[in-house]
Parts: sequence; C-alpha cells; structure tokens
Amino acid sequence: MLNNEKIQEELKRNGFKLTSQRKAIIEVLMEHKDRFITAEEIHKKVLQKHPKTNFSTIYRNLESFEKINIIHKTNISDNASIYELVCNDNHHHHIICKKCGKTEIIDFCPLDNINNSLKSFKLIDHKFELYGLCDKCNNK
Ligand SMILES: [Zn+2]
Ligand SMILES: [Zn+2]
Ligand SMILES: [Zn+2]
Repeated sequence: MLNNEKIQEELKRNGFKLTSQRKAIIEVLMEHKDRFITAEEIHKKVLQKHPKTNFSTIYRNLESFEKINIIHKTNISDNASIYELVCNDNHHHHIICKKCGKTEIIDFCPLDNINNSLKSFKLIDHKFELYGLCDKCNNK
C-alpha cells in the first residue's frame, strides 16, 4: 500500500517538489482510496483548499503522477479519464463500477496462462480491467 511517506519519497526521487497543490491532490486521492475519480472531481476538491488552482495544473500533475507510477489511470467512458492511487505493490488487476468508479482489487492475473501458451512472442506488458456495477449502483 502506498502511504504518504512512500509517495513523498517517490516524488523526491523523480525530482518533483512536494508543492502544497501536489500535496492537496494526493490528499484527495487518499480520501478516495477504493474509488477511481475524474480529474474534474479532484479539481473541485482541491479548490476547497486552494481556491486558485486551475484545472490544467491538476491535469498536468496527474499525468506526471501516472508516469512515475503513483497513480493508475483508466477510462470508463470515451471522454474522461479516471484516477486512483496505486493501491498495491504487487501485480494486480481491478474491477471498476461503470457508474461511480468504485473499485475492487483482483488479486489474480489471468495473463499467466496466456503467457504460457505463446509460441513466438514474449509477453512484456498487458492491461486487463473488468467493468461492472457495484452493489449500490446495481440496486438503484
Ligand atoms: Zn490498483
Ligand atoms: Zn457504483
Ligand atoms: Zn496481470
């Protein structure tokens, strides 16, 4: 699990200063640990602490955070990316609620089997995500 200390370490290691805005973004992500949220949602929450933050700052920082593997980024619709703090150091996958972004970890990699059956390829990377409706959204 990535805690605050580890995140700060990663930022430092990659040459990022821990500005108060970056801190605020990370705080928002920490408050939504089991959920993917959009950049807009993150922006709204950060504005409560830093009223002058503009959206492009949020977006730029999220992109950098993704590059240094602090956050996961994915899409559930065509027009918006959603983000979550990387929740586990071990290789894992996610199921994500299409409506609210709630997520659960799938601690199992179905690609292992596929890898074994490849004849003339070496698998070097993959993405595997499941989408659904969480209990709450399903009962609405
Ligand atoms: Zn994860
Ligand atoms: Zn849901
Ligand atoms: Zn996998």
